[in-house]
Amino acid sequence: PPRVTRPAEERLMVAVRIRPIKHNEGQRVLHMVDNKMVVLEDAEGDKNDVLRQKRGSERRYVYDVAFGEQSTQEEVYRGTTSRLVQDVLLGYNATVFAYGATGSGKTHTMVGSPQQPGIMVRALNDLFQHVREARDPDEYQVTMSYLEIYNENIRDLLNPSSGFLELREDPRGRSIQVAGLSELSTQSTEEVMVLLQKGNRARTVEPTAANRTSSRSHALLSVTVRHATPLAGGERMRTRVRQGRLFMIDLAGSERASQTKNRGKRLQEGAHINRSLLALGNCINALSGGARYVNYRDSKLTRLLKDALSGNCRTVMVAHVSPGARHREESRNTLLYGDRAKNI
Ligand code: ADP
Ligand code: MG
Repeated sequence: PPRVTRPAEERLMVAVRIRPIKHNEGQRVLHMVDNKMVVLEDAEGDKNDVLRQKRGSERRYVYDVAFGEQSTQEEVYRGTTSRLVQDVLLGYNATVFAYGATGSGKTHTMVGSPQQPGIMVRALNDLFQHVREARDPDEYQVTMSYLEIYNENIRDLLNPSSGFLELREDPRGRSIQVAGLSELSTQSTEEVMVLLQKGNRARTVEPTAANRTSSRSHALLSVTVRHATPLAGGERMRTRVRQGRLFMIDLAGSERASQTKNRGKRLQEGAHINRSLLALGNCINALSGGARYVNYRDSKLTRLLKDALSGNCRTVMVAHVSPGARHREESRNTLLYGDRAKNI
């Protein structure tokens, strides 16, 4: 890829998405101010005291972009990921994360449904279309893999019966691979949707006190675009290869183990989740601050993403929040995480 040094603010984008409120979630305490700013009402106000000064108990949060309860899948895709697809076609790496508590809308944004396909499906669709419309479609190869990290164990979501997979680093520690992970090649968006939904059903789902379908695993979809161009001239056939990779990641719920009243096994899972989310946060902070040394070794998630996060690649974090009073604390935590990631 061409050597371009991107300024930090172009390398990391932080978006926030508020999902629609549900009937049993209390009053709406999180509002859009404009397309970059949201406001969280900090304390439970006295509903009868209309004249009470509200301002002191609100906190505003500003991001690169904010999506409200009415936002569509298309708007979220266009506003966060479509330009990453362009990068990947040029041979860059790029990553988009969905962050947030369980139930805040991460899987809706990333996978969605056949009626409302999410970022993963739209990005693949866009890539396929670019390749089809390219002058030389046969020179492109698009492959995908889909894996889960659960309790620091890696499983293949496209082939769940294959057991735990190992991370393999080359001796110089320069590239990392998941041994035995299936790589699929497809051109059909419908097939992708089916693969993702099937993969998602294979994700490790454990009931917790907070939410019976709480997802305690990270799901990583990796899409690799390889473009091999034959070079003219000379007797021997030579090719120039450009390879770009797009990671799209549905992170485990960010709620704290303590808030879900977890015990025993659940608590240990919580510790693992927090460890990888913390490690990720540390890496992103270090990268966006232009640090010379970034520690990727603290979790499998960050080890896997080392290539994708370092160098000139772009990263988008979509922080997910629920607007109801019932989720105020977890929403505040998510808004703060996004704020820290953004603020270097
Ligand atoms: P998470 O993956 O963060 O646990 P989900 O994506 O499963 O959360 O969302 C929880 C519920 O809310 C699901 O029933 C989902 O369909 C719904 N939901 C989430 N975000 C939206 C949205 N933007 N529009 C409509 N429904 C949504
Ligand atoms: Mg989910």
